Amino acid sequence: MKRDVREFWNERVRGLAPYTPGEQPRDQRFIKLNTNENPYPPSPLVVEAVKQAADDRLRLYPDPECWELREAAAERFGVQPEQVFVGNGSDEILAFAFGAFFADKILFPDVTYSFYPVYARLWDVPFERPLLNDDFSINPGDYTKDAPHTGVVFPNPNAPTGRSMDVPTVLSIVKARKDSVVIVDEAYAAFSKENLSVARFVTANPNLLTIHTLSKFASLAGLRVGFAIGDENLIEGLRRMRDSFNSYTVDRLAQAGAAAVMKDRAYYEYVIRKVVDTRERVSTVLSSRGFEVIPSDANFLFVRCPSRKGEDFFAYLRERGILTRRFNENRIADFLRVSIGTDSDMDIFLEACRE
Ligand code: PMP
Repeated sequence: MKRDVREFWNERVRGLAPYTPGEQPRDQRFIKLNTNENPYPPSPLVVEAVKQAADDRLRLYPDPECWELREAAAERFGVQPEQVFVGNGSDEILAFAFGAFFADKILFPDVTYSFYPVYARLWDVPFERPLLNDDFSINPGDYTKDAPHTGVVFPNPNAPTGRSMDVPTVLSIVKARKDSVVIVDEAYAAFSKENLSVARFVTANPNLLTIHTLSKFASLAGLRVGFAIGDENLIEGLRRMRDSFNSYTVDRLAQAGAAAVMKDRAYYEYVIRKVVDTRERVSTVLSSRGFEVIPSDANFLFVRCPSRKGEDFFAYLRERGILTRRFNENRIADFLRVSIGTDSDMDIFLEACRE
């Protein structure tokens, strides 16, 4: 009989409660509306830069500090390269940040990115989850109450609801929490109607760390690149975490491709516009048919079918080759998160919803 080597798991690994990523089916027959990928290809400049980097230099380690990319990103975000950290996707940076900056307690909404409780448990940081309002908006007062040494993290726009907070409200939370780090996860901010990013305020607010990803607006989920923007010594804290773990988290091809993103603003503005237009169109159609649709500033919609339980709605769409994401949690089990695909993907989705 084969030996059950789980006996070798230590207490730490036995105690883990890992995140479950959205399904990545190995066959292509699904319309993939389940992991908020961008339906359009990355900029041709990015593909070319990755190809150009695929040469003899692959025998050499990449620059662990990603200087060239940090300079390009710094220019884009209006900060200094020393205020930029690059990671293997923003998930990696979030993992480092939870480990580096939180100790006593951390607050994040009850309905939010489901990786946050995983990181908090990983690093043994107690957390509290203030309830979103009934319309799924964040109540800023929950995060500005006097509670010393309490960190905060939330996405803006929030996931999986898509609802956003305006810049003055986000800054009011940052300013009320001066004695701890506030992380604003801007994974979806590029799809918002207004410029929601608070990255440009990090110099004035040294406790603010913003997190960014190229997986969504830049169509590069497969390249694995994310950024953090913040005070130099927050960046140094992240570097200390990284260099206690793996110094070369961002490979040579990823650094080259990511730097090229910063050079093709026009292409990405066009792609973002297309996704946003499709989102607005789909949202209007669904609302007119009696679906509950949460107002979204992201590249997905959070949708409840008026006549079916979430579980059944999910299974019904899956049988028709449409993958969406459902979270079997309090308050949101009847909602599906539907990523915005191409117009023709969304027409197929809308057609399925008509039945
Ligand atoms: N933050 C939020 C809110 C997300 O939804 C995601 C994507 N799952 C991430 C961070 C991580 O993105 P990535 O690791 O691809 O940069």
